[in-house]
Amino acid sequence: MVTAARLKKWALLSLTIVLVLCAVSVLWVDYQLTRFAGAHTALVDHTGFHAMSGPTAITDVHVLSPDGNTMLGGNTVLFDEGGIVAIGENLELPEGVNVVDGSGRYLIPGLIDAHVHLKQSPNDLLVYVANGVTGIREMSGNADHLGWRADIEAGRLGPRMFVASEKLESWGWFAGHFQRWTRNRINVRRPEDAEAVVRSLAGDGYDAVKLGSMLNGETYWAVDQAASESGLSLIGHLPVSVPLSELWKSQQSELAHIEEIVKALDAEFGYFTNANADEYLDFVARRSDEVAAKLAERDIGMVSSLWLIESIPRQKAATAQFIEEIELQYANSGLVKGTPLSKGWLPGNNAYEIGPEAGPAEREAAVAYWTVFAEAHRILLRALRDNGVQVMAGTDANTAGTVPGFSLHDELKSLTEAGLSPAQSLRAATATPAKRMNDKAGRIAPGYRADMVLLRDNPLKDISNTRAIDGVVVNGRFLDRAQLDVILAAVAETNQGSRTTAL
Ligand SMILES: [Zn+2]
Repeated sequence: MVTAARLKKWALLSLTIVLVLCAVSVLWVDYQLTRFAGAHTALVDHTGFHAMSGPTAITDVHVLSPDGNTMLGGNTVLFDEGGIVAIGENLELPEGVNVVDGSGRYLIPGLIDAHVHLKQSPNDLLVYVANGVTGIREMSGNADHLGWRADIEAGRLGPRMFVASEKLESWGWFAGHFQRWTRNRINVRRPEDAEAVVRSLAGDGYDAVKLGSMLNGETYWAVDQAASESGLSLIGHLPVSVPLSELWKSQQSELAHIEEIVKALDAEFGYFTNANADEYLDFVARRSDEVAAKLAERDIGMVSSLWLIESIPRQKAATAQFIEEIELQYANSGLVKGTPLSKGWLPGNNAYEIGPEAGPAEREAAVAYWTVFAEAHRILLRALRDNGVQVMAGTDANTAGTVPGFSLHDELKSLTEAGLSPAQSLRAATATPAKRMNDKAGRIAPGYRADMVLLRDNPLKDISNTRAIDGVVVNGRFLDRAQLDVILAAVAETNQGSRTTAL
C-alpha cells in the first residue's frame, strides 16, 4: 500500500526533477542567445596595433571640399588628437610633425554607418576602423555599448559611437519578460510607464530612444512626450499601430529604414502581391513625393539600409552564391553560424533562405516579391533626394549577410546605383549623420574631428573607390594600409580560431 509519506517523497522528487530541467533549459537558452550575439568569439587584443600619434600632416593631397562636391588638389592637412588644425596649399609645418605623403591621393571625411548592431562583438569596432568607418550609430544599445563608447572616447581604437536604446515595445507581462530575455526589447506596457523608462535611459547616457514596431498607439504618444521632455531624440521604426498621417504630429526625428515608409505605403495600398506588383509600384511612385515632402518639412531623417533589402532575393534563393560574395571572414562567427534557436547567415541556416521544401514556383514567387519590395525602396530614395530629405547611409550591420564595415561600401554603391550622385552618397555617410550625432565631424575643415580616409582614387568619379583605402585617421591617429591589413588579419584569424566548423 502506498503511504502518504511515500507519495510526498515522490512528489518532492518529481518537483525537483522538473525544477532542475527548467534551470538547465534556461541556462541552455541563455547560452545559445549569448553565442548568437557573438559573445563566445575570442577577442582581438585591441591594444596591439600601431597608430601614428601626435601632430601629423598629410601633404599634397586632394581634399573633399567642405560642401562635399569637389576635390581640391595640392592641399596639406594638419591634425592631431584634438582635431583638424589647419588646411592649406602652402602650410608651414611645425617642427617634428609626422608627415604622410598624400600625393596623387584623395582625402575624405571618415565614414559613418548610421545603423549598426554591435551585439556582443567588440572585434567589429576594429573592422569598422579598417574600413574607414570612423563613426557608427548603434541602434540597439546596451550597457556594454555605453562602456565601449566611453573607452573609445578615452583612447581605445574604435569608431566614435552614438548609442540609441534598445527597442521600446508594448507587450503583456509574460510576453514582455520573454521579449526582454530573448530579443532585448524594453517593455513599455502602458502609457503611464513611458516617463520612467525614458528618464532612466537618459540617466544611463543613451543618445536616443529607439522605437520598435510593436509599441502600441497610446504608449507611442506617451513616449513621444517623455522623450521631448528628456531631450533625447526619438528614432527608429514607425510602430505598426501608428499610421503615416500620425507620424507628422509626433516629435519622432528619424526613421530607421526606408522600409518603414515602404511598409506603411503597403498597408495603405492593401498589401501588394505579385499579381498587382505594378499597380503597387505606381502607387508608391504617386505617393512618394508627398511623403518625402512631408519628411523634409518635418526634418525627419531617413536611414537607407537599401543594400540589405536588395540582398534579400539573393539570400532567399541563391544563398550559397551570396555568401561567397561577402567578406564573411570578418563577421562574428557566432552570428554567422546561428544556433538551434536563431538562424544565422550560412546556407542551410540563413535567416532569409527559403527552405528546401519549397518548389521552384514558390522560390520564383518569393524572389519576384522581394525584388518589387526593393524597387519600391529605390523609388522612395529618389523622392527623398528630390525633396531634400536628410538621408543617412546605414546598413543594419550584423543582420544576416551584412558584414560590419564592408557593408557601408556596399550601401554607398547601392545608393549611387539607385540614383544618388557619388557626392550625395558620400554626404549620406559623412556630413548628414555627423550632424544628427551632434558631432563636429563629417567634413574636412579646421576644428572638426580628425576622422578621415585616404583613398587611392577619386570617389566622386566612382563611388567604389571608397574601398581603395590607403590609410585611416581615427580620433587624430593615422593607421597606414599595412596596419589596417594587420587589424583585418587579426580579426579573421581570431574568428577562424573561434569556429567549431569551417565556413
Ligand atoms: Zn537594426
